Amino acid sequence: MTLDSTDLFGALFDRRVVPVLVPMPAPRPYSYAVPEGMAVEAGSIVQVPLGPRLVVGVVWDGLDDGTVDPTKLKEIEKVFDCPPLTRDMRAFLDWVASYTVTPPGLVARMALRAPTAFDPEPMVEALRLTERRPERMTSARERVLATASDGFSWTRSGLAHAAGVSSGVIDGLAAQGVFETVFMPPPPVVATPDPDFAAPRLEGPQKEAAADLLTAVEERKFSVSLIDGVTGSGKTEVYFEAVAATLRAGKQVLILLPEIALTASFLERFQDRFGAKPAEWHSDLAPRTREKVWRQVTTGQVRVVAGARSALFLPFEDLGLIIVDEEHDPAYKQEDRVFYNARDMAVVRGRIGGFPVVLVSATPSVESRVNGEVGRYRPIHLPTRFGDAALPQLGVVDMRRHPPERGGFLSPVLLNQVGKAIGRGEQALLFLNRRGYAPLTLCRVCGHRFQCPDCSSWLVEHRFRGQIQCHHCGYSERTPEACPECGTLDHLVACGPGVERIAEEVERHFPDARTIVLSSDLMGVKRLRLELEAIARGEADIVIGTQLVAKGHNFPMMTLVGIVDADLGLANGDPRAAERTFQLLSQVTGRAGRTGLKSLGLLQTYQPQHPVMQAIVSGDSDAFYDREIHERERAALPPFGRLASIIVSADARSDAEGHARALRNAAPRVDGISVLGPAEAPLALIRGRHRFRLLVHGRRNSDMQSFLKAMIAGGPKERGSISVQLDVDPQSF
Ligand code: ADP
Ligand code: ZN
Repeated sequence: MTLDSTDLFGALFDRRVVPVLVPMPAPRPYSYAVPEGMAVEAGSIVQVPLGPRLVVGVVWDGLDDGTVDPTKLKEIEKVFDCPPLTRDMRAFLDWVASYTVTPPGLVARMALRAPTAFDPEPMVEALRLTERRPERMTSARERVLATASDGFSWTRSGLAHAAGVSSGVIDGLAAQGVFETVFMPPPPVVATPDPDFAAPRLEGPQKEAAADLLTAVEERKFSVSLIDGVTGSGKTEVYFEAVAATLRAGKQVLILLPEIALTASFLERFQDRFGAKPAEWHSDLAPRTREKVWRQVTTGQVRVVAGARSALFLPFEDLGLIIVDEEHDPAYKQEDRVFYNARDMAVVRGRIGGFPVVLVSATPSVESRVNGEVGRYRPIHLPTRFGDAALPQLGVVDMRRHPPERGGFLSPVLLNQVGKAIGRGEQALLFLNRRGYAPLTLCRVCGHRFQCPDCSSWLVEHRFRGQIQCHHCGYSERTPEACPECGTLDHLVACGPGVERIAEEVERHFPDARTIVLSSDLMGVKRLRLELEAIARGEADIVIGTQLVAKGHNFPMMTLVGIVDADLGLANGDPRAAERTFQLLSQVTGRAGRTGLKSLGLLQTYQPQHPVMQAIVSGDSDAFYDREIHERERAALPPFGRLASIIVSADARSDAEGHARALRNAAPRVDGISVLGPAEAPLALIRGRHRFRLLVHGRRNSDMQSFLKAMIAGGPKERGSISVQLDVDPQSF
């Protein structure tokens, strides 16, 4: 700073002041003073005092409004030695905050990490050969010298390992001055993928699809392509071409996958194609690895990330393509703190960054399908399975005509096919999207039902663990022997099936088969990965699983898929129920017949005429989509109208209801927007909190965000235990 005497007064107060976004639910950035000599710019990641704590924040855009006396401001404590968030990234975070009506600091928090993540990685201590030779030669020493004579530096343990000696041998040589200590940069988390490592020969429709996709991708500007093709049609292979083209252009790539922690096979497949794995990003990474990946993404060392929805908030140095695989998957929606759909926000990020986005699905969401039809997205179709793999033959089992035996849930038709499949040495998958043994337990004598004390839900019996559990809050107790209501012993009955109960039935019928139950409550992610690999190697005959078996896995010997209860997802009143059920069942039946073997998918249902069953069995998804789209259009539901849900929760029911009512009364009058409710939320009680819901419905072009903001601003403050959650574009409505 230069001073001249005429500006003395100004200089005293002319401390530079910048807005800093802190990871808090504040409506806007706070002002901080910049200490003399500190270089900060918009996007710099800094540490600032906030109350009694030091927090990580980002220097934000816009000038300070000058309302605060700069001499009273706190100073920025430190600037981290890492690349600033780019202008595009800042614009993206602002956009997400404003679209989801969330304080920007909470959105920015998703792009930041703990302070330790920003310090440069320590250099690694290594050894390098000097001119000096050992005083006495041994064969072990000779091996070390031969190994280390490649001219590179080695870590102590790496060299000991490579030379096949104990580290004592190395220490001895170092003590004699045969080695000197040097420092090398930390190794990258993953090797660099090579776009030309093993390009496949694309065939038939794949070739056209890839050419079509590349036209869009190589323009290097914003566009959205929607690859729509049956499971096994080679969609992955096609979008890998877009990945390769982007890598050749020197840009980074993000591939979003809904269940990345389970898809080890995806990483291997990527490696087969590109010679190196992508960096993974999901909540099961070790904290140190997360920090490393974060840093190497910001510096551009990592070229490709395969990640869960949160990877969208990684501050890439130079992102050039986002792929959203299984774009219809509900796992892309986060319903916690910041309510956002990663698929939609990926499109926004592409628009802001001016690069292409590719959505991929065998069963696109109705929204994407409509966007494809009206030309907002570029549809790319892959109509048939790749190579000699045929889609499974699909059929319904009418449960009214083929009832299971007493106490069972599997029809004779399905059991017969399971027997045939395993008799041929192939595998069968029985799918039921319900964890545990039974979804409801009741007393045969007094009718008492076991309910969670804190939620409006039944306790689910988990027989393997000897517990009854709440699937909403995790409450559990030992499975009782007597009814707590009437005291009668041994008269409790399990109602309905969960996967554990199906396993019991399967074991009764096929005592010699190798049966395996896959359910997220029975094993952690590591175990699950191993089990999935074992199944792919053929080390199980019958697999019984929840929806985690549905996603992306390739089981070559799987020739039968049985859906235990195809009606399960249709029961609730959600307008999206049919779409979701169609997507899930298509995905599960798609696990069958991934190789040349003939395969079969059977749907057990009490409503064989239901449009979902008809669509799956006939393979005519167009008719199904047309019908769904028509229904949505008629009711002005998304994407033909807009929705937001407001959930008000509180410890006392009357508080929640009263606050919701007051919010409703605070709603401005806007043409084309209406508020429904309040009504009890679909789960009226969770973790002891009572929940009421308001649904805001608007025409397609209505300004939902301004409406919601006006409503919140005009309504009462959140007092005591009351909390309000806004969900723009809710999943269920
Ligand atoms: P989808 O993503 O549509 O389910 P995949 O891309 O997984 O389909 O392809 C299905 C199978 O066909 C995979 O095992 C894949 O390796 C194989 N495959 C697809 N395209 C090719 C190709 N051009 N050359 C060799 N194998 C291919
Ligand atoms: Zn509960």
